Amino acid sequence: MTIGIWVLGDQLWQRQAALQSRAEQAENTPVILIESLGWVRLRPYHKQKLVLVWSAMRHFAAELREAGWPVTYETAEDFESPLVGWIEANGITELRVMTPGDRPFLHLIQSLNLPCDLNLLPNNHFLWQDGDFAAWAKGRKNLLLEYFYREGRQRFGVLMEGKQPVGGAWNFDKDNRKPPKGKLNPPAPLEFEPDAMTREVMQQVRELDCPTYGELEPFRWGVGRSHALQVLDHFIATRLPTFGPYQDAMVTGEDTMWHALLSPYLNLGLLRPLEVIHAAERAYHKQALSLSSVEGFIRQVLGWREYMYGLYHHVEADYAQRNWFQHTQPLPAFFWDSTQTDMNCLRQTLRQVERTGYAHHIQRLMILANFSLIAGFSPQEVENWFHAAFIDAYDWVMQTNVIGMGLFADGGILASKPYAASANYVNKMSDYCKGCRYDPKQRTGKNACPFNFFYWDFLDRHRAQLKSQGRINLILANLDKMPPEELQAIRQHAKGWHEQHSYLV
Ligand code: FAD
Ligand code: SF4
Repeated sequence: MTIGIWVLGDQLWQRQAALQSRAEQAENTPVILIESLGWVRLRPYHKQKLVLVWSAMRHFAAELREAGWPVTYETAEDFESPLVGWIEANGITELRVMTPGDRPFLHLIQSLNLPCDLNLLPNNHFLWQDGDFAAWAKGRKNLLLEYFYREGRQRFGVLMEGKQPVGGAWNFDKDNRKPPKGKLNPPAPLEFEPDAMTREVMQQVRELDCPTYGELEPFRWGVGRSHALQVLDHFIATRLPTFGPYQDAMVTGEDTMWHALLSPYLNLGLLRPLEVIHAAERAYHKQALSLSSVEGFIRQVLGWREYMYGLYHHVEADYAQRNWFQHTQPLPAFFWDSTQTDMNCLRQTLRQVERTGYAHHIQRLMILANFSLIAGFSPQEVENWFHAAFIDAYDWVMQTNVIGMGLFADGGILASKPYAASANYVNKMSDYCKGCRYDPKQRTGKNACPFNFFYWDFLDRHRAQLKSQGRINLILANLDKMPPEELQAIRQHAKGWHEQHSYLV
């Protein structure tokens, strides 16, 4: 009996479940990694995402070879043909794979016609194991993050003093969320020059004969475990101490602010969530960092990230198709080409995504998703765009963040109310409005900001559904007070905007 292991592109950790299960017999266990060109034709991925994943896979294959595993590395149109050839050539009787985080990929694996047994091992890339989320969720009326996060703090003993949270509270958000006033000087991110292996992949991506998105160069992401560890150290030393205060702020030309830039590495398996959490907690104790910054960061990784993964596997498989508001507007062409919009906040953010594949959380949530929500774009089109455009996008993290958090298309499983906001929010939390041709204070007229008329139009269109949610009745009361002629003008603006924009079919 010969056991072979297929390592998927986002499972690049030497102790991931399948490799771990054969660690003692590494020399006698054939391993395969496959780059599938067919898979990248599914959507126009960001060029840097393709470089990141393929270069990280190649670097990981080299690491495995060094550690004694007999590794085969294939580039092919599909997954099945190289797998079958390798299984037959090595006389493999059992193919072992760590269960993928993404449901569509699991279905793909299960549909393969393989000449051996398939053994899927539980995924060990997350802190909460299979079944844990369901056990936690059982019997609960709502599945809000806050309770999940508190449970996580206790379960993994993070920032705890006995049974109590360090500092006497679970959440210090009130100390964060500062608007960007005055001159801020966020630290420069740690960047890497592409090595020979990465440059080879860049050439391959340059020559691809399928649609892609974004710019290939400059490519500055790390591509292996040692790079990922350097990014983590750099974050702890230069960004974590002031991570909290400007977590929600957006500043022109400052792509990353104090954000960690860790998601690409966490999502590939190059970093483990617990080592990231422990590094932050250690720094808190050793360097007496501010608790609001450290707790704010830990909540992202121990709370949000684990929660999104657990929820994705907990909800019904039709979650991706949810459309609570019945939004059907197609995505405007400017999402694929930032030069086509004159809205400064969208243009700056979209331009940044084209250049880097990255935008920080508030740009994703309060600029891109918020606008998509209030303008009524189809959740599935928006999700597809996010999935193609972002360096750290995977199905498990995309659906809950876009369908649930960003667009409220799940009707409130994840969030207690929609993250919908007018230009007021953008103007307060960014400097984008200063450089914009629209007026953030106007909701009608020729300089009216589209965030304003779409915001009120959204409330108007969905008044009944929003009322049933009960969380924004105060705002709905303001809508009720609006003079009918102004409401009519707002509706006209919203309709006119859609008529003037071009869409890719
Ligand atoms: P930081 O702000 O420094 O946060 C630290 C870490 O916390 C992140 O690296 C990430 O691992 C984790 N984290 C924080 N919030 C979330 C969250 N909501 N879900 C999952 N992990 C979280 N995250 C992705 O990893 N991939 C995506 O494709 C993605 N798409 C998003 C789309 C939308 C519409 C929204 C609202 C959020 C999305 N997020 C996604 C979550 C979050 O915005 C990113 O994880 C974060 O911006 C990554 O940058 P960072 O490492 O600098 O994060
Ligand atoms: Fe965005 Fe409106 Fe501000 Fe312009 S005025 S940057 S469109 S919110």
